[in-house]
Amino acid sequence: MEIQGSCLCGAVRYAVRLPFDKFLYCHCSRCRKATGTPHAANAIVAPDALRWIAGEDNVLRYDLPTARSFSTAFCKNCGAPMPRLTRSGKRVIVPAGSLDGDPGERPNCHAHWASRALWYSNDVALPKFDGDAF
Ligand SMILES: [Zn+2]
Ligand SMILES: [Zn+2]
Repeated sequence: MEIQGSCLCGAVRYAVRLPFDKFLYCHCSRCRKATGTPHAANAIVAPDALRWIAGEDNVLRYDLPTARSFSTAFCKNCGAPMPRLTRSGKRVIVPAGSLDGDPGERPNCHAHWASRALWYSNDVALPKFDGDAF
């Protein structure tokens, strides 16, 4: 079983073999900066579970110099986060928002919970709109 993913502009496409090793939300300050959101949603897989379908050469990588291991990767056309090999080379981190379709798995933990944004709300009772709320 595989699930495919793509960037915002569609130049980059990839496939990931299921199941994921881990599927989590990460609230660390670096993930918040890198995504612009209260937490990353990351699927973790083995390096050989990732297969590029198109546009791999559109993916740029940034290794944060002040971090031991933090990296990001993104489409150079549209800036969308894309899968990346960890600096140890042992895992691939797949930004789950780039997946197309349902992997059939759900995130099962919050990492770096103590670092979560002060404004973060996981209030399931918030009003829900099917369209824009602004
Ligand atoms: Zn793109
Ligand atoms: Zn993080």
